[in-house]
Amino acid sequence: MSMLDRLESRIFMDGHWMRGDGGTRMVISPTTGEAIAEVSEASVEQTLLAIAAAKRAQPAWARKSPLERAQVMKRVAALVRRDAERLAQIVVLEQGKPINEARGEVGGTGEFFDYFAEFARRIEGEILPSDFPGEQIWIQRVPIGVVGAIIPWNYPSALVSRKIAPAMIAGNTVVLKPHELTPLSALEMARLFEEAGVPAGVVNIVTGSGARVGEAIISSPDIGLITMTGSLPTGKRIMSAAAANVAPVSLELGGKAPFIVMADSDLDLAVRSAMTSRYMNCGQVCICNERTLVQRKVYDDFVERFVGATQALRIGSPFDEATDVGPKVSLEELQKVERYVERALAEGAQLALGGSRPKEPPTPHGYWFSPTVLTDVHPSMEIMRKEVFGPVLPIIPFDSFGEALAIANDSQYGLSAYLFTNDMPTIMRAVADLAFGEVYVNRIGPESLQGFHVGYRESGLGGDDGPHGLETYLRKKTVYLNHSGKPTAPLMPYCA
Ligand code: NAD
Repeated sequence: MSMLDRLESRIFMDGHWMRGDGGTRMVISPTTGEAIAEVSEASVEQTLLAIAAAKRAQPAWARKSPLERAQVMKRVAALVRRDAERLAQIVVLEQGKPINEARGEVGGTGEFFDYFAEFARRIEGEILPSDFPGEQIWIQRVPIGVVGAIIPWNYPSALVSRKIAPAMIAGNTVVLKPHELTPLSALEMARLFEEAGVPAGVVNIVTGSGARVGEAIISSPDIGLITMTGSLPTGKRIMSAAAANVAPVSLELGGKAPFIVMADSDLDLAVRSAMTSRYMNCGQVCICNERTLVQRKVYDDFVERFVGATQALRIGSPFDEATDVGPKVSLEELQKVERYVERALAEGAQLALGGSRPKEPPTPHGYWFSPTVLTDVHPSMEIMRKEVFGPVLPIIPFDSFGEALAIANDSQYGLSAYLFTNDMPTIMRAVADLAFGEVYVNRIGPESLQGFHVGYRESGLGGDDGPHGLETYLRKKTVYLNHSGKPTAPLMPYCA
């Protein structure tokens, strides 16, 4: 039997597998352009039933001790490790990232469960002094209830865990909607939740479009928190829908990361880092290097080395371990990137490399786009301002660090920024003045489990990972406990 046999095509809710009543959708391989599975999608009614199941399951899940919840989560982590290769192959199949990267992603899928299980003994409250004798004030951290989780296609496996693991340890239950392009990884995870003995209703996976299933989740008054990773327009739509129920939201939206290279930096390290940070996952990473700023003294040298290194990248089947760059996820995404390049050229940018689909693509119908380098760009051009999310890099020179800082900060996005230099005063100035949620100095991502993944400005709200990310999935309850047997404050007279 092949490693990719028996792909799941049903939805998972209340501990049961069932066919979705919302029609079916073909999942297309980005590598070949061919259908690989036909998945049934949830109807609005089924989505509401999944939310109801999560609501029913939540009190019993919250009553378990955190340690009991952690034990279930550790079983999930162990099963992810057992099935890691199959999970990685599914990621490659439906999303198209190279297998080595997919194995890294699936490593993260398991680690989120192990990491958040460690918080079993660390979700603490506070006891505060009261203004009155015989009274205590407690602040407890308690679960929110039902979490609605909505994820994109670029990390279809790891993002399942990034949302579900903190929700579970906090005592919440979850209804998760994967992206319609990449539902298979989340459905495979549902099998592992079932096998690990996650109680019925604690995790529900409903497939379907944003317009139908997504809207049903974000409009439901039974959802206590909406956590979404995806695009800016969807994030704005979610905020406005959440306003109707005054539901909290956690949004991880796009980025337009500046990558600043100072003349004193280790140029080889900077070139290889800039390249990896641009082309990994075919440029489809929210913290990707989206615009590189190079100090003028080393600009020509940097561009020459960058173009040379990019030319040496191997574009090919993502199932091949030797491949560096795979296909884009979909034809629509490929065409979006093509249009960005066309408009950049129309605005006056020059092509230093690439610029189109490859002349000899690895497969005739895959969604290939050649790694592309643009020079002669200006900070006001669209290619320097909008998130491209593809293998296209504009490179711009600057003179002083102050100038680089101004270009970097002048963005609607504020997720991540990079700086390559060996000069400590410049590093400290960058740390203080780069207005981004994540600053990487002399290194690139990915971000760490124990960090805090958060965007400034229109890149997001709330945040994921680490103890600060866990806070998103908890709310606080203040208890005023009078144990003195007497009133703690003057009361009105009792008149029976
Ligand atoms: P998208 O916004 O199109 O889709 C994200 C999810 O939202 C999908 O599941 C989609 O079905 C759902 N959705 C769409 N409309 C909806 C609606 N009206 N109501 C509810 N749900 C709806 O984004 P995408 O194209 O999948 O992902 C690419 C974007 O995600 C990029 O902008 C990228 O930067 C961003 N991203 C951000 C991070 C981060 O952590 N900041 C990580 C990965 C991706």
